[in-house]
Amino acid sequence: MADSPASGSAPATSEPVFSSGKLSAEDVQRIRGDFPILHQMVHGDQPLVYLDSAATSQKPRVVIDKLVEVYEQYNSNVHRGIHALGDRMTVEMEGAREKVARFINAASAEQIVFTSGTTMSVNLVAHGWAAQRLGPGDEILVNEMEHHANLVPWQMAAKASGATLKFLPLTPTWELDVSRLEEFLTRRTKLVAVTGMSNVTGTINPLELLTRAAHDVGARIFVDAAQSAAHGPVDVRSPDVDFLAFSGHKLLGPTGIGILYGKADALEEIEPLFGGGHMINEVTPEGSTWAALPARLEAGTAPFAQTAGLGVALDYLSNLGMETIARQEQTLLELATSRLETIPGVTIFGPPCAKKGAIVSMTVDGVHAHDLADLLDRQGVAIRAGHHCTMPLHERFGVAATARASFAFYNTPEEVEQLAAAIEKAVEIFKRPRRSRGV
Ligand code: PMP
Repeated sequence: MADSPASGSAPATSEPVFSSGKLSAEDVQRIRGDFPILHQMVHGDQPLVYLDSAATSQKPRVVIDKLVEVYEQYNSNVHRGIHALGDRMTVEMEGAREKVARFINAASAEQIVFTSGTTMSVNLVAHGWAAQRLGPGDEILVNEMEHHANLVPWQMAAKASGATLKFLPLTPTWELDVSRLEEFLTRRTKLVAVTGMSNVTGTINPLELLTRAAHDVGARIFVDAAQSAAHGPVDVRSPDVDFLAFSGHKLLGPTGIGILYGKADALEEIEPLFGGGHMINEVTPEGSTWAALPARLEAGTAPFAQTAGLGVALDYLSNLGMETIARQEQTLLELATSRLETIPGVTIFGPPCAKKGAIVSMTVDGVHAHDLADLLDRQGVAIRAGHHCTMPLHERFGVAATARASFAFYNTPEEVEQLAAAIEKAVEIFKRPRRSRGV
């Protein structure tokens, strides 16, 4: 691999690594130097080509160093310590909350609830808001491109409340069919739950239009930003969404930390699902009263070390610039799409590149997605195969599984070519009679 080893790379958060708004090949190499994990061989002698960032992103050294710093220097429970370490950790965690608020342009840090991830954020709203407030005759509008995390909790909430789940249809290019919005979004709709970007097709949804339409009928809108927050700028005030969720681990941060953003009045409407320490105002044997937001929704010990890691991850992304990241990934997406389309038998599911993020999910004639992923893995290329937690979407595709390559700004055009060459090799292998197959 042409990469320079990670050790000795410059600290990434101190200064932006580029200035033009577009990354040069040298910029990308320098960035790759910040990610220790990328510089390794797998299966003995195959340089790793990591194309699974939609599942989880890799971590720059500054994030890893931050976690070490926490545990070596000021690990202590937050908000309760009346001592130096507890104070320091609390400052770190609340500082990270401010950074999250800035990253998504929230009006205040009180609107940022720390959760364990997108899944928990959705469940908080589904069980603490929808299940409590909706009833028979009310509707929740979803669609079939949603990750199970943004579908199953709404099914549960509908079942618990007696509300009905409605599905906005998809177009043949796997976009939301907004021409049918009027039919599906009515005064009965109380919530629209939608992903900012599909984790399978990469489809970027028209949040501006959906938010306006939802508000016009008096509904709230919940945005699953698990993918979209990693691939471009997020501004929760434009469009003016009610709830938005994402996971730290997909944005260069640690696992175990997620975000639920809500408009102040929307968050106020959520009943706490978990009781315990930190979320109370007063407790008597007879009952309890709740603390103010966000503590009310953060029962128990917070993932405080992870919040510090997430804060540094957001600094890193902000230094690069989310617009720049989006542009860089779009270049990789266009390259990958045009190259993969030259391979006979490859079908890519999704809209044209201009309407999607850097995810390519495909089938290859004659090669099962799992076999493809396996053969690619043996050549060092890490992709993912399966239904990617979107069974209804794959039902619509008419296939049980797709193979998904997902790109991040630390990927290179050379890696796109390695992906394509590995697929071509897999196709060749599967053309051979069964007995002589092997990489
Ligand atoms: N929504 C989307 C679109 C996702 O891609 C994912 C993660 N694959 C999730 C929700 C769930 O995220 P997590 O598992 O981090 O809670």
